[in-house]
Amino acid sequence: MNKYTVRCLHCGEAHEPYSLNCRNGDDALLRVEYSARQLHPADMPGIWRYKEWLPVQGIIEEGSGKTVTYKSEKLASELGLNDLWIAFNGYWPQRDARMMTCTFKDLESFPTMQRLKEQDEVRIMVVASAGNTARAFSHVCSITGQPLLLVVPQESSHRLWTTHEDTSAVFLATVEGDYFDAISLAGKIASREGFVNEGGARNVARRDGMGTVMLDAVLTAGSLPDHYFQAVGSGTGGISAWEASMRLIEDGRFGSKLPRLHLAQSLPCAPLYSLKYGTDAVAPECPGGMYDDVLFNRKPPYAIKGGVRDALEATGGTVYAIRNKEAAESQSVFEKEEGIDINPAAAVAVAALVKAVQEGNVQPDDRIVLNITGGGQKRLMQDYPVKIIEPSVKVSAKDPNAEDMIVTMVQNVFGVYK
Ligand SMILES: *Cc1c(COP(=O)(O)O)cnc(C)c1O
Repeated sequence: MNKYTVRCLHCGEAHEPYSLNCRNGDDALLRVEYSARQLHPADMPGIWRYKEWLPVQGIIEEGSGKTVTYKSEKLASELGLNDLWIAFNGYWPQRDARMMTCTFKDLESFPTMQRLKEQDEVRIMVVASAGNTARAFSHVCSITGQPLLLVVPQESSHRLWTTHEDTSAVFLATVEGDYFDAISLAGKIASREGFVNEGGARNVARRDGMGTVMLDAVLTAGSLPDHYFQAVGSGTGGISAWEASMRLIEDGRFGSKLPRLHLAQSLPCAPLYSLKYGTDAVAPECPGGMYDDVLFNRKPPYAIKGGVRDALEATGGTVYAIRNKEAAESQSVFEKEEGIDINPAAAVAVAALVKAVQEGNVQPDDRIVLNITGGGQKRLMQDYPVKIIEPSVKVSAKDPNAEDMIVTMVQNVFGVYK
Protein backbone atom coordinates (compact mmCIF):
# COMPACT_ATOMS: atom_id res chain seq x y z
CA MET A 1 0.00 0.00 0.00
CA ASN A 2 1.22 3.54 -0.73
CA LYS A 3 2.18 5.64 2.25
CA TYR A 4 -0.11 8.41 1.06
CA THR A 5 -2.44 9.56 -1.71
CA VAL A 6 -2.85 13.13 -2.94
CA ARG A 7 -6.51 13.78 -3.67
CA CYS A 8 -8.32 16.78 -5.15
CA LEU A 9 -11.03 18.31 -2.96
CA HIS A 10 -13.05 19.24 -6.04
CA CYS A 11 -13.08 16.17 -8.27
CA GLY A 12 -12.10 13.59 -5.63
CA GLU A 13 -9.58 12.01 -7.98
CA ALA A 14 -6.18 10.79 -6.84
CA HIS A 15 -3.42 12.92 -8.35
CA GLU A 16 0.27 12.46 -9.01
CA PRO A 17 2.02 12.96 -5.60
CA TYR A 18 3.78 16.21 -6.54
CA SER A 19 0.79 17.91 -8.17
CA LEU A 20 -0.11 21.43 -7.10
CA ASN A 21 -3.36 21.78 -9.04
CA CYS A 22 -6.53 19.87 -9.85
CA ARG A 23 -6.08 18.22 -13.21
CA ASN A 24 -9.68 19.05 -14.11
CA GLY A 25 -9.01 22.75 -14.01
CA ASP A 26 -10.70 23.69 -10.75
CA ASP A 27 -8.74 25.92 -8.36
CA ALA A 28 -9.42 23.64 -5.36
CA LEU A 29 -6.59 22.54 -3.08
CA LEU A 30 -5.29 19.00 -3.14
CA ARG A 31 -4.98 17.21 0.18
CA VAL A 32 -2.97 14.24 1.40
CA GLU A 33 -4.59 11.08 2.74
CA TYR A 34 -2.20 8.98 4.82
CA SER A 35 -2.64 5.25 4.94
CA ALA A 36 -1.66 5.28 8.64
CA ARG A 37 -4.90 6.29 10.34
CA GLN A 38 -3.20 6.58 13.72
CA LEU A 39 -0.14 8.70 14.32
CA HIS A 40 2.94 7.02 15.78
CA PRO A 41 5.75 9.48 16.48
CA ALA A 42 9.09 8.25 15.15
CA ASP A 43 12.39 8.31 17.00
CA MET A 44 13.86 10.73 14.48
CA PRO A 45 15.38 14.21 14.70
CA GLY A 46 13.37 17.44 14.50
CA ILE A 47 10.21 17.55 12.43
CA TRP A 48 10.73 13.96 11.28
CA ARG A 49 9.21 12.80 14.54
CA TYR A 50 5.98 13.26 12.57
CA LYS A 51 7.25 11.64 9.39
CA GLU A 52 4.30 9.25 9.26
CA TRP A 53 2.02 12.20 8.48
CA LEU A 54 4.40 14.03 6.18
CA PRO A 55 4.32 13.37 2.40
CA VAL A 56 7.93 12.16 2.27
CA GLN A 57 9.71 8.81 2.03
CA GLY A 58 13.06 9.78 3.54
CA ILE A 59 14.41 12.57 5.73
CA ILE A 60 17.09 15.28 5.81
CA GLU A 61 19.02 14.19 8.90
CA GLU A 62 20.60 17.49 9.77
CA GLY A 63 19.24 20.85 10.81
CA SER A 64 15.49 20.60 11.26
CA GLY A 65 13.77 21.62 14.48
CA LYS A 66 10.36 20.72 15.79
CA THR A 67 7.67 22.57 17.68
CA VAL A 68 8.05 22.43 21.45
CA THR A 69 4.74 22.49 23.30
CA TYR A 70 4.49 23.21 27.00
CA LYS A 71 1.80 24.23 29.46
CA SER A 72 1.99 27.89 30.32
CA GLU A 73 1.92 28.93 33.96
CA LYS A 74 2.76 32.61 34.10
CA LEU A 75 1.07 33.99 30.99
CA ALA A 76 -1.88 31.69 31.69
CA SER A 77 -2.27 33.04 35.19
CA GLU A 78 -1.87 36.63 33.96
CA LEU A 79 -4.76 36.00 31.56
CA GLY A 80 -6.84 33.97 34.02
CA LEU A 81 -6.57 30.78 31.93
CA ASN A 82 -6.14 27.28 33.37
CA ASP A 83 -5.33 25.19 30.31
CA LEU A 84 -3.15 27.26 28.01
CA TRP A 85 -0.53 25.44 25.92
CA ILE A 86 2.21 27.24 24.10
CA ALA A 87 3.38 25.67 20.85
CA PHE A 88 6.77 27.33 20.53
CA ASN A 89 8.55 27.49 17.18
CA GLY A 90 12.02 28.90 17.37
CA TYR A 91 15.24 28.73 19.34
CA TRP A 92 15.13 28.16 23.07
CA PRO A 93 17.75 25.65 24.14
CA GLN A 94 16.51 25.52 27.74
CA ARG A 95 13.35 23.92 26.36
CA ASP A 96 15.20 22.01 23.67
CA ALA A 97 13.68 24.18 20.91
CA ARG A 98 16.13 24.35 18.03
CA MET A 99 14.48 25.80 14.97
CA MET A 100 17.56 27.47 13.56
CA THR A 101 15.85 30.19 11.52
CA CYS A 102 13.56 30.96 14.47
CA THR A 103 10.16 30.63 12.79
CA PHE A 104 7.81 27.82 11.85
CA LYS A 105 8.72 28.33 8.18
CA ASP A 106 11.38 25.67 8.90
CA LEU A 107 8.48 23.22 9.13
CA GLU A 108 7.59 24.02 5.51
CA SER A 109 11.04 24.16 3.98
CA PHE A 110 12.36 20.78 5.14
CA PRO A 111 9.53 18.56 3.82
CA THR A 112 9.40 20.62 0.61
CA MET A 113 13.10 20.15 -0.11
CA GLN A 114 12.98 16.48 0.89
CA ARG A 115 10.27 15.93 -1.73
CA LEU A 116 12.30 17.78 -4.31
CA LYS A 117 15.15 15.34 -3.66
CA GLU A 118 12.79 12.39 -3.97
CA GLN A 119 11.74 13.57 -7.41
CA ASP A 120 15.37 13.70 -8.56
CA GLU A 121 14.49 17.25 -9.46
CA VAL A 122 17.31 19.05 -11.25
CA ARG A 123 15.38 22.26 -11.79
CA ILE A 124 16.04 25.25 -9.55
CA MET A 125 13.46 25.95 -6.87
CA VAL A 126 12.12 29.50 -6.88
CA VAL A 127 10.85 30.99 -3.62
CA ALA A 128 9.33 34.44 -3.19
CA SER A 129 9.22 35.66 0.36
CA ALA A 130 8.99 38.66 2.67
CA GLY A 131 11.83 37.12 4.64
CA ASN A 132 11.05 34.27 7.00
CA THR A 133 10.29 31.74 4.27
CA ALA A 134 13.41 32.80 2.40
CA ARG A 135 15.51 32.31 5.53
CA ALA A 136 14.02 28.85 6.12
CA PHE A 137 14.63 27.71 2.54
CA SER A 138 18.14 29.11 2.47
CA HIS A 139 18.87 27.18 5.69
CA VAL A 140 17.77 23.82 4.32
CA CYS A 141 19.42 24.37 0.94
CA SER A 142 22.69 25.32 2.63
CA ILE A 143 22.55 21.88 4.25
CA THR A 144 21.50 19.81 1.22
CA GLY A 145 23.28 21.88 -1.44
CA GLN A 146 20.14 22.05 -3.62
CA PRO A 147 20.21 25.23 -5.73
CA LEU A 148 17.71 27.90 -4.68
CA LEU A 149 16.58 31.17 -6.23
CA LEU A 150 15.15 33.57 -3.65
CA VAL A 151 13.17 36.60 -4.77
CA VAL A 152 12.77 39.00 -1.85
CA PRO A 153 11.54 42.60 -1.56
CA GLN A 154 14.53 44.81 -0.88
CA GLU A 155 12.90 46.14 2.29
CA SER A 156 12.89 42.61 3.71
CA SER A 157 16.48 41.70 2.93
CA HIS A 158 17.59 42.34 6.53
CA ARG A 159 15.69 39.17 7.43
CA LEU A 160 18.07 37.11 5.31
CA TRP A 161 20.51 36.21 8.05
CA THR A 162 22.07 32.79 8.27
CA THR A 163 24.12 30.66 10.64
CA HIS A 164 25.85 29.00 7.66
CA GLU A 165 29.25 30.06 6.41
CA ASP A 166 28.72 28.60 2.97
CA THR A 167 25.56 29.83 1.28
CA SER A 168 26.68 29.10 -2.26
CA ALA A 169 23.50 27.09 -2.95
CA VAL A 170 21.50 30.31 -2.61
CA PHE A 171 21.05 32.94 -5.31
CA LEU A 172 19.36 35.98 -3.76
CA ALA A 173 17.59 38.50 -5.99
CA THR A 174 16.23 41.55 -4.19
CA VAL A 175 13.38 43.50 -5.76
CA GLU A 176 12.58 47.16 -5.36
CA GLY A 177 8.87 46.73 -4.76
CA ASP A 178 6.58 44.92 -2.35
CA TYR A 179 5.98 41.25 -1.59
CA PHE A 180 3.41 41.05 -4.37
CA ASP A 181 5.98 42.30 -6.90
CA ALA A 182 8.41 39.66 -5.64
CA ILE A 183 5.73 36.96 -5.99
CA SER A 184 4.79 37.93 -9.51
CA LEU A 185 8.41 38.11 -10.67
CA ALA A 186 9.16 34.75 -9.04
CA GLY A 187 6.06 33.29 -10.68
CA LYS A 188 7.23 34.34 -14.13
CA ILE A 189 10.69 32.89 -13.59
CA ALA A 190 9.32 29.66 -12.12
CA SER A 191 7.30 29.05 -15.28
CA ARG A 192 10.47 29.09 -17.41
CA GLU A 193 12.39 26.00 -18.36
CA GLY A 194 14.80 24.85 -15.68
CA PHE A 195 12.88 26.40 -12.79
CA VAL A 196 10.22 25.06 -10.46
CA ASN A 197 7.73 26.84 -8.20
CA GLU A 198 7.43 25.76 -4.59
CA GLY A 199 3.67 26.22 -4.72
CA GLY A 200 2.80 28.19 -1.56
CA ALA A 201 -0.48 27.11 0.02
CA ARG A 202 -0.94 24.59 -2.82
CA ASN A 203 2.16 22.68 -1.74
CA VAL A 204 0.92 19.84 0.48
CA ALA A 205 4.38 19.44 2.04
CA ARG A 206 4.25 23.02 3.28
CA ARG A 207 0.78 22.54 4.77
CA ASP A 208 1.45 19.19 6.40
CA GLY A 209 4.78 20.52 7.69
CA MET A 210 2.96 23.38 9.39
CA GLY A 211 0.31 20.91 10.53
CA THR A 212 2.92 19.30 12.79
CA VAL A 213 2.39 22.24 15.19
CA MET A 214 -1.08 20.86 15.93
CA LEU A 215 0.26 17.29 16.04
CA ASP A 216 2.89 18.25 18.59
CA ALA A 217 0.44 20.26 20.69
CA VAL A 218 -2.14 17.47 20.78
CA LEU A 219 0.33 14.69 21.49
CA THR A 220 1.81 16.76 24.32
CA ALA A 221 -1.46 17.97 25.85
CA GLY A 222 -3.20 14.63 25.31
CA SER A 223 -6.28 15.85 23.45
CA LEU A 224 -7.45 18.25 20.78
CA PRO A 225 -7.76 21.79 22.17
CA ASP A 226 -10.97 23.81 22.14
CA HIS A 227 -9.15 26.75 20.53
CA TYR A 228 -6.14 27.38 18.30
CA PHE A 229 -4.58 30.87 18.01
CA GLN A 230 -2.20 31.88 15.24
CA ALA A 231 -1.03 35.05 13.50
CA VAL A 232 -1.68 34.73 9.77
CA GLY A 233 -0.79 36.40 6.51
CA SER A 234 -1.96 33.92 3.88
CA GLY A 235 -3.80 31.86 6.48
CA THR A 236 -2.10 28.68 5.27
CA GLY A 237 -1.15 27.81 8.84
CA GLY A 238 -4.83 27.96 9.75
CA ILE A 239 -5.73 25.58 6.92
CA SER A 240 -2.94 23.27 8.08
CA ALA A 241 -4.11 23.27 11.69
CA TRP A 242 -7.62 22.37 10.53
CA GLU A 243 -6.37 19.56 8.28
CA ALA A 244 -4.17 18.14 11.05
CA SER A 245 -7.14 18.30 13.45
CA MET A 246 -9.32 16.31 11.06
CA ARG A 247 -6.63 13.61 10.90
CA LEU A 248 -6.36 13.57 14.69
CA ILE A 249 -10.13 13.12 14.97
CA GLU A 250 -9.89 10.18 12.52
CA ASP A 251 -7.10 8.78 14.71
CA GLY A 252 -9.77 8.29 17.38
CA ARG A 253 -7.70 8.88 20.53
CA PHE A 254 -7.79 12.66 20.90
CA GLY A 255 -11.41 13.77 20.83
CA SER A 256 -14.02 14.38 18.18
CA LYS A 257 -14.46 18.14 18.07
CA LEU A 258 -12.53 20.41 15.73
CA PRO A 259 -10.60 23.16 17.51
CA ARG A 260 -11.97 26.61 16.78
CA LEU A 261 -9.51 28.65 14.70
CA HIS A 262 -8.64 32.15 15.97
CA LEU A 263 -6.62 33.79 13.21
CA ALA A 264 -4.94 37.11 13.90
CA GLN A 265 -4.06 39.76 11.35
CA SER A 266 -2.16 43.00 11.76
CA LEU A 267 -3.82 46.36 11.01
CA PRO A 268 -3.78 48.37 8.83
CA CYS A 269 -3.41 45.39 6.44
CA ALA A 270 -5.90 42.68 7.32
CA PRO A 271 -7.34 41.26 4.07
CA LEU A 272 -8.59 38.05 5.70
CA TYR A 273 -10.51 40.14 8.22
CA SER A 274 -12.03 42.09 5.30
CA LEU A 275 -12.94 38.92 3.44
CA LYS A 276 -14.55 37.34 6.48
CA TYR A 277 -16.50 40.35 7.74
CA GLY A 278 -16.99 42.38 4.57
CA THR A 279 -15.27 45.47 6.00
CA ASP A 280 -12.37 47.31 4.44
CA ALA A 281 -9.32 46.58 6.59
CA VAL A 282 -6.65 47.07 3.93
CA ALA A 283 -5.07 50.54 3.81
CA PRO A 284 -3.57 51.94 0.59
CA GLU A 285 -0.08 52.07 2.14
CA CYS A 286 0.02 48.30 2.77
CA PRO A 287 2.25 46.59 3.75
CA GLY A 288 3.41 49.85 5.32
CA GLY A 289 2.43 50.54 8.91
CA MET A 290 2.08 46.93 10.04
CA TYR A 291 3.50 45.57 13.26
CA ASP A 292 5.15 42.87 11.16
CA ASP A 293 4.87 42.91 7.38
CA VAL A 294 5.48 39.15 7.08
CA LEU A 295 1.77 39.01 7.87
CA PHE A 296 0.71 40.69 4.65
CA ASN A 297 -0.50 38.74 1.66
CA ARG A 298 -2.48 40.50 -1.03
CA LYS A 299 -4.10 37.35 -2.37
CA PRO A 300 -4.68 34.89 0.46
CA PRO A 301 -6.14 31.47 -0.52
CA TYR A 302 -9.55 32.37 0.90
CA ALA A 303 -12.42 31.27 -1.28
CA ILE A 304 -10.90 28.24 -3.01
CA LYS A 305 -12.15 24.82 -1.97
CA GLY A 306 -10.26 23.70 1.12
CA GLY A 307 -9.02 27.26 1.73
CA VAL A 308 -9.25 29.68 4.64
CA ARG A 309 -13.00 30.27 4.33
CA ASP A 310 -13.75 26.55 4.51
CA ALA A 311 -11.38 26.19 7.49
CA LEU A 312 -13.14 29.04 9.33
CA GLU A 313 -16.60 27.71 8.51
CA ALA A 314 -15.81 24.15 9.55
CA THR A 315 -14.36 25.21 12.89
CA GLY A 316 -16.61 28.16 13.76
CA GLY A 317 -13.49 30.27 13.46
CA THR A 318 -12.83 33.94 14.12
CA VAL A 319 -10.48 36.48 12.53
CA TYR A 320 -9.00 39.32 14.59
CA ALA A 321 -7.62 42.66 13.38
CA ILE A 322 -4.91 43.72 15.81
CA ARG A 323 -3.57 47.25 16.29
CA ASN A 324 0.15 47.85 16.68
CA LYS A 325 -0.27 49.09 20.23
CA GLU A 326 -2.10 45.91 21.22
CA ALA A 327 0.60 43.78 19.63
CA ALA A 328 3.39 45.71 21.35
CA GLU A 329 1.75 45.41 24.77
CA SER A 330 1.17 41.71 24.27
CA GLN A 331 4.74 41.19 23.15
CA SER A 332 6.04 42.73 26.41
CA VAL A 333 3.63 40.72 28.54
CA PHE A 334 4.57 37.46 26.83
CA GLU A 335 8.31 38.08 26.97
CA LYS A 336 8.16 39.08 30.63
CA GLU A 337 5.96 36.18 31.72
CA GLU A 338 7.40 33.36 29.62
CA GLY A 339 11.02 34.54 29.56
CA ILE A 340 11.82 34.30 25.84
CA ASP A 341 11.83 36.88 23.05
CA ILE A 342 9.22 36.37 20.34
CA ASN A 343 8.91 37.37 16.73
CA PRO A 344 6.64 40.44 16.24
CA ALA A 345 4.26 38.34 14.12
CA ALA A 346 3.77 35.96 17.04
CA ALA A 347 2.91 38.93 19.29
CA VAL A 348 -0.09 39.58 17.04
CA ALA A 349 -1.43 36.13 17.98
CA VAL A 350 -0.84 36.81 21.68
CA ALA A 351 -2.84 40.04 21.30
CA ALA A 352 -5.69 38.08 19.72
CA LEU A 353 -5.70 35.76 22.71
CA VAL A 354 -5.84 38.76 25.08
CA LYS A 355 -8.78 40.11 23.09
CA ALA A 356 -10.55 36.76 23.04
CA VAL A 357 -10.30 36.56 26.84
CA GLN A 358 -11.65 40.11 27.21
CA GLU A 359 -14.51 39.47 24.82
CA GLY A 360 -15.45 36.12 26.37
CA ASN A 361 -14.61 34.13 23.22
CA VAL A 362 -12.70 31.68 25.40
CA GLN A 363 -13.54 30.45 28.90
CA PRO A 364 -11.03 30.06 31.77
CA ASP A 365 -11.06 26.25 31.67
CA ASP A 366 -11.00 25.86 27.88
CA ARG A 367 -8.02 24.04 26.43
CA ILE A 368 -6.16 26.57 24.28
CA VAL A 369 -3.16 26.21 21.96
CA LEU A 370 -1.26 29.40 21.22
CA ASN A 371 1.04 28.99 18.24
CA ILE A 372 4.13 31.11 18.77
CA THR A 373 5.10 31.07 15.10
CA GLY A 374 8.53 32.55 15.73
CA GLY A 375 10.77 33.22 18.70
CA GLY A 376 14.18 33.14 20.27
CA GLN A 377 15.97 35.09 17.57
CA LYS A 378 17.71 37.28 20.15
CA ARG A 379 18.62 34.18 22.12
CA LEU A 380 20.07 32.51 19.03
CA MET A 381 22.14 35.54 18.15
CA GLN A 382 23.78 35.35 21.58
CA ASP A 383 24.80 31.75 20.90
CA TYR A 384 25.71 31.79 17.19
CA PRO A 385 27.50 34.13 14.84
CA VAL A 386 25.20 35.06 11.98
CA LYS A 387 25.82 36.85 8.72
CA ILE A 388 23.53 38.57 6.23
CA ILE A 389 23.23 36.88 2.83
CA GLU A 390 24.36 39.41 0.25
CA PRO A 391 22.12 39.82 -2.81
CA SER A 392 23.53 38.32 -6.00
CA VAL A 393 21.48 40.84 -7.97
CA LYS A 394 19.23 43.82 -7.24
CA VAL A 395 16.40 44.58 -9.65
CA SER A 396 13.46 46.93 -9.89
CA ALA A 397 9.95 45.51 -10.25
CA LYS A 398 9.38 48.08 -12.99
CA ASP A 399 12.36 46.97 -15.08
CA PRO A 400 11.05 44.88 -18.03
CA ASN A 401 14.43 43.13 -18.29
CA ALA A 402 14.52 42.03 -14.64
CA GLU A 403 13.23 38.54 -15.38
CA ASP A 404 15.70 37.79 -18.19
CA MET A 405 18.56 39.24 -16.24
CA ILE A 406 17.92 37.04 -13.21
CA VAL A 407 17.43 33.91 -15.33
CA THR A 408 20.70 34.44 -17.21
CA MET A 409 22.65 35.11 -14.06
CA VAL A 410 21.20 32.11 -12.23
CA GLN A 411 22.00 29.84 -15.16
CA ASN A 412 25.56 31.14 -15.18
CA VAL A 413 25.95 30.43 -11.48
CA PHE A 414 24.30 27.02 -11.27
CA GLY A 415 24.72 25.81 -14.86
CA VAL A 416 21.83 25.33 -17.24
CA TYR A 417 19.39 22.64 -16.14
CA LYS A 418 17.44 20.88 -18.84
C1 LIG B 1 4.63 33.23 7.72
C2 LIG B 1 4.45 33.58 9.14
C3 LIG B 1 3.17 33.66 9.71
C4 LIG B 1 1.88 33.51 8.92
O1 LIG B 1 1.79 32.30 8.29
P1 LIG B 1 0.57 31.83 7.37
O2 LIG B 1 1.21 31.28 6.15
O3 LIG B 1 -0.32 32.96 7.08
O4 LIG B 1 -0.10 30.77 8.15
C5 LIG B 1 3.08 33.93 11.05
N1 LIG B 1 4.17 34.13 11.80
C6 LIG B 1 5.41 34.07 11.29
C7 LIG B 1 6.57 34.31 12.19
C8 LIG B 1 5.59 33.78 9.94
O5 LIG B 1 6.83 33.73 9.45
